[in-house]
Amino acid sequence: MENKIPYKIYLEESEMPQQWYNVRADMKKKPAPILNPDTLKPVTVEELEPIFCTELAKQELDDTTPYFDIPEEIRSFYKMYRPSPLVRAYCLEKKLGTPAHIYYKFEGNNTSGSHKLNSAIAQAYYAKKQGLKGVTTETGAGQWGTALSMACSYFDLDCQVYMVKCSYEQKPFRREVMRTYGAKVTPSPSMSTEIGKKINAEFPGTTGSLGCAISEAVEAATTQEGYRYVLGSVLSQVLLHQSVIGLETIAALKKYDIKADTVIGCAGGGSNLGGLISPFAGEMLRGENDYKIIAVEPASCPSLTRGKYAYDFCDTGKVCPLAKMYTLGSGFIPSANHAGGLRYHGMSSVVSELYDQGLLEARSVEQTSVFEAAQQFARVEGILPAPESSHAIKVAIDEALKCKETGEEKNIVFGLTGTGYFDMVAYQKFNDGEMNDYIPTDEELEKSFASLPNV
Ligand SMILES: *Cc1c(COP(=O)(O)O)cnc(C)c1O
Repeated sequence: MENKIPYKIYLEESEMPQQWYNVRADMKKKPAPILNPDTLKPVTVEELEPIFCTELAKQELDDTTPYFDIPEEIRSFYKMYRPSPLVRAYCLEKKLGTPAHIYYKFEGNNTSGSHKLNSAIAQAYYAKKQGLKGVTTETGAGQWGTALSMACSYFDLDCQVYMVKCSYEQKPFRREVMRTYGAKVTPSPSMSTEIGKKINAEFPGTTGSLGCAISEAVEAATTQEGYRYVLGSVLSQVLLHQSVIGLETIAALKKYDIKADTVIGCAGGGSNLGGLISPFAGEMLRGENDYKIIAVEPASCPSLTRGKYAYDFCDTGKVCPLAKMYTLGSGFIPSANHAGGLRYHGMSSVVSELYDQGLLEARSVEQTSVFEAAQQFARVEGILPAPESSHAIKVAIDEALKCKETGEEKNIVFGLTGTGYFDMVAYQKFNDGEMNDYIPTDEELEKSFASLPNV
């Protein structure tokens, strides 16, 4: 039997979005402004300029312009790996015996192995255009550092990456990919920044955290002439760049007259989720359509489902602006979950505000069940998914099984953010039955909430 809808819905190069979409423009109630930590007043572009590239600082603070042109140089880079396919998971549907139609937008088709390249290339472009020498950043699991090193080598920019020490030691191959692309990779906390020295003195032998690596990277950017700091998630500018995912998804669905019912994404700092759902949420905000949108987070780092909606620090060193977001507190150190990309204490202020307005729901899932879903998916769909992405797979399968009970033919769309080839230690633990499901207690969370700033 011929399937009317192909396994892979590809867009033509010419159908790739010409503009990014800024969902903030369609929000009546805007996300709360980010604040200067010293004055507690909303930050200005001028205040951000010593840290961020000017154009990116403008994008960060712009909550009224709905569309931004994607510069031609960025579009030509995108064309090397975009448009990315929207895949109909026929084989998974059959295996589950569900009447639901499952689609996934696959962002793992580039060497960085994730969606992060979509924003890395944009941020490197604006840094180059401003005439900078280079950029600094942090990386946890390593996907962002890899994406940024690729983008910087393309534009001939220096790239300095502070990599959380435990990942630096546990993921030597990620580190080598970055070095192959010319990046300088330093384990964090290091002895080459003031904040790194301070943290090392206070916590001897610490293996680092994302919040600490951010502080180091910011310090490195502000103390070197011609450098700025860039970040791979959480920020509104990153969501803007990632909207290319959602725009392509909507265009692909439209090609075959498919109306999505449920849209699902995993949520770490919220950039892939925000990028995927922005155009869908925009239709909801404008009263044109209705969708069920689900954010999926790890039970070990449950910022949306158990966090507080409050102003908080974005980094351990408290040098970054304060953001109002669903947060577990900047001092929260999640247990050693294998989905490194989902271990951030906070959540994008845009995703947080949409969640607070009830436009999306959130679920937290336990690690072992996530890997069971990953295995089930890998065995029939042929892609080895990243542990982060597998959070979305888990909930997509749950939703499809609900349809099996009710007989509903729903269209379920989820974001498959990347591949898991560098996560084989995690898969090994799962295969050996040695994975644990640590969930923080209420007492632990309360302790962490106590350190929230009084704003
Ligand atoms: C970084 C990462 C994530 C989580 O980051 P978000 O900003 O929440 O999207 C998810 N999946 C993969 C593969 C990643 O590398």
